Amino acid sequence: MQVRKAIEVTGIVQGVGFRPYVYRLATERGLVGTIANTAAGVTLEIQGPAEAVEDFLARLPAEAPPLARITGVMVRDLAANGDSSFVILPSRAGAEHRALISPDVAVCADCLRELFDPADRRHLYPFINCTNCGPRFTIVRDIPYDRPRTSMSVFPMCPVCQAEYDDPANRRFHAQPNACWECGPRVELWDAGGAPLAVRDAIAEASARLQEGAVVAVKGLGGFHLACDATNPRAVERLREAKRRVEKPFAVMAPDIASIEAFCAVDEPSRELLLSVQRPIVLLPKRKPNEIAEAVAPFNRYLGVFLPYTPIHFLLFAAGNFRALVMTSGNLREEPIAIDNREAAERLRGMADFFLVHNREILLRCDDSVLRVAAGRARQVRRSRGFVPVPVFLKEELPPILAVGGELKDTICMTKGREAFLSQHIGDLENLETYRFFEETVERAKRILEIRPAIIAHDLHPAYFSTQWALKQSGLKTVGVQHHHAHIAACMAENRLDGRVIGIALDGTGYGADGAIWGGEVLLADYRDFERTAHFEYVTLPGGEAAIREPWRMAFSYLVHHFGRDLFGLHIPFVEQLQRDRAEVVLRMIERGVNAPLTSSCGRLFDAVAALAGIRHAVNYEAQAAIELEMAIGDAREDAAYPFAVEDGTGVLRIGTRPMFAALIEDLRAGTPSSLISLRFHNGLVEVFARLARRLRARTDHDRVCLSGGTFQNVHLLEHLEARLAADGFRVFTHSEVPVGDGGLSLGQALVAAHRVGF
Ligand code: ZN
Ligand code: ZN
Ligand code: FE
Repeated sequence: MQVRKAIEVTGIVQGVGFRPYVYRLATERGLVGTIANTAAGVTLEIQGPAEAVEDFLARLPAEAPPLARITGVMVRDLAANGDSSFVILPSRAGAEHRALISPDVAVCADCLRELFDPADRRHLYPFINCTNCGPRFTIVRDIPYDRPRTSMSVFPMCPVCQAEYDDPANRRFHAQPNACWECGPRVELWDAGGAPLAVRDAIAEASARLQEGAVVAVKGLGGFHLACDATNPRAVERLREAKRRVEKPFAVMAPDIASIEAFCAVDEPSRELLLSVQRPIVLLPKRKPNEIAEAVAPFNRYLGVFLPYTPIHFLLFAAGNFRALVMTSGNLREEPIAIDNREAAERLRGMADFFLVHNREILLRCDDSVLRVAAGRARQVRRSRGFVPVPVFLKEELPPILAVGGELKDTICMTKGREAFLSQHIGDLENLETYRFFEETVERAKRILEIRPAIIAHDLHPAYFSTQWALKQSGLKTVGVQHHHAHIAACMAENRLDGRVIGIALDGTGYGADGAIWGGEVLLADYRDFERTAHFEYVTLPGGEAAIREPWRMAFSYLVHHFGRDLFGLHIPFVEQLQRDRAEVVLRMIERGVNAPLTSSCGRLFDAVAALAGIRHAVNYEAQAAIELEMAIGDAREDAAYPFAVEDGTGVLRIGTRPMFAALIEDLRAGTPSSLISLRFHNGLVEVFARLARRLRARTDHDRVCLSGGTFQNVHLLEHLEARLAADGFRVFTHSEVPVGDGGLSLGQALVAAHRVGF
C-alpha cells in the first residue's frame, strides 16, 4: 500500500546540500514526491510503500550532510496521488523567514583536490566551492538562500556550471556560489594607489611581493586582511607602524599543521579546532626559539594561529614558500574590517603596498573567530566567521528581543523562539566607524532573521553608545540590565540553567547599580534579579580612562588607599621609581575626589599588581597588563597564596585587599621573582572566591556556580578556580559556546530582559 507524508524540516538546511541528500535518500528507496526550500526550511512530500517511507524518515535526520543542523521535523499524513518521480521544486518565498543560514565554511577536501588538479576545469580557480563548502553568510542579501539573493547574482552561470547546478547527483547541485574560470568572479592585483596592475597571475604576483617583504591587503571571506611574511621582522614592524597598532598580537596563518608545530605546541583539542570547517584563529603556546618575528606577538607566550580557509589562501601559499603569513584584519587600529574594494583602497591607503582584490562582493562584514582551549574545552574569545549565524539554542521560548551589548568588543543578540542569534564581533563602539557597523548589523539581522523586536535590552551605563542608541528607539520597551548580571545570565543561558545560581563575575569595567564601576562581584542571581553579595573594596580610579591606560595609577591608588602618604616611605622599586610630580598630581586627584570614580574592578586589581611587580606601567591594548601578569607565572608552581580579607559591610561582604598588598610588598622587598608574585596573587584570588562561594552555599544552599566576565580569559585563574570549586563539591559552569567577556554580554541581557518583562 502506498502512503504519502508531508514533512517540514527546520534548522540549517539550506545551502548545505540538503535537497540533493534528500533526493538521493528518496530515489534510492524508490520513493516519489517533491522537495522545496521555503522561508522556514525545507518542505517535502514523500510517497511509497509504508516500510520504505518509515526507513526514509528514520534516516532523514541521522544521515544529514555535515553542515546541516536540524532543529525540527514535523510529519503529517496525506492522501497518496499519482506522482511517478521525485522532483525538486523551485524555492518558495514565505511570509516568515525561519530558515537558518549556514555560516561560511572553509574550502573542502574535494574542492582542494580539484583546485590543484591540472586536468580539472577549475585548476587554480580562486573561487572554487561546492554545496559542502564556501561562502554563505557573508554573501547573503536576503533569504531564502538562493543565488539571486546573494552577491553571486551578477554572475550568470555558464552552461557547464548550470548543468552541475541542475544535476541532483552532482556535488554542486544548487551550490549557490557555483562558478568557474568561464563565468565566475576574478581576482586582480592593485598597486598601493588602487590602480589595477597588468599581471598574468595576480595571486602568484602577490605571493612574490610578499616574499620580498611587501604588505598586501588580501580580500578574504568576511573582509580584508593585511598580510606580510611573519618571519620577516622588518615587514612586521612596517605593518605595525602603518596600522598604528602597538604590541597587540597579530594572528599568523600557516600552510599546514606541521608548519604550526614548528613554532607552537599543538595539543589534540587545539589541532581539532584548527582543522575544523570554521578554521578559527586558535591561541597556542609558542615554542622557543621559533622563526616567527618577535614583533608579531611581543611579551606574549601565546600566538594566534590559523590555517588557510579560502582557495585564495591556498593559492598564495602554493605560489610562495612561506612558513607563515601575518594575517591581521584590514583596518586602522580598532576600526571595523574593510570589505569593499574601493573602501579598502581608501581606508588601507598607506598601509598596504598592494591590494589583492576580487569582484565577488562581501555583503556582511565578519572578522575571524578566535578560540582557545582551557580546562580541556574549546573557549570562544571572539565568535564570528564560521560560527555566526548559528544560534545559541535556549531552554525556553523567548519573545523577540534585541539586546545591544556593552561598549567594547560589542555583539548584539536577537531572540526568536528558542533561538538566540548572537551577531558577529562588532568591536569598540566609541569608534564612529564601528558605531555605523553596529547600526548596519542591527538592520541586517532584523532583515535576515525576520525579527521585529518588541523589547530592547541595554547596559546601565548612561554614556555607552549602545545604551544611548537603545534609548533613542521609539515605540519599543527598553530594559536596562546591570553588566555583571548580564554576564552571569549569559553563562546560565549557554548552560541552559534556570533558578538561582552563585555568580562570580570578574572583569575590567561594568556600570554598577550604585553608579560605581564594578568588576569584582559575587552575585546570587537568577534571570530576573540579582543580589550583590560580595565585591572588592572600592578604590579610586584616578583619571578615569587614564587609569585604564596607565596601570601605575592603579598601583598608586591602592597604595594611597591603604597607606596614605606613608606610601612614599615604602622601600619598594615601584615607589622609588615613581615620578614624584606625576604622582603628586594623581594624589591630589584622589584626595579631592576629582575625576576619580570608585571601582571594585578585578581587572584594575590585576593592573595594580602588574605595575607593582614591575611588569607593566602603561598599556597599549586592553587588558595587556593582566595578560602579561598571567604570562609571568611561566612554569612556577607552589601553593602559597596572598591573603584577602572578607569583611562584613552593610549587608554586602567586602573583599579587603590590604593584607594582599602587605604580603606583596614584603615579597617585593625580599626580591621575590615576578613569577612567584604573580602565582601567589592568582592563588589568593582562587582562595578568596572559593571561600566566598562556600559561605554563600552555607547561607542559601545553592551549589551551582557560574564563572563569567573577561577576567576569566585568564586560563590560569579559570582552570584553578574551576578545579577548586569542583573539589569543594560545587557544580561549576563556564563559557564555551559564547565569549566569557563582553562579546557574550548581549545574550545575557536578552535573557534578563525577557524575564523582567514576563512572557
Ligand atoms: Zn567543496
Ligand atoms: Zn562556469
Ligand atoms: Fe564585562
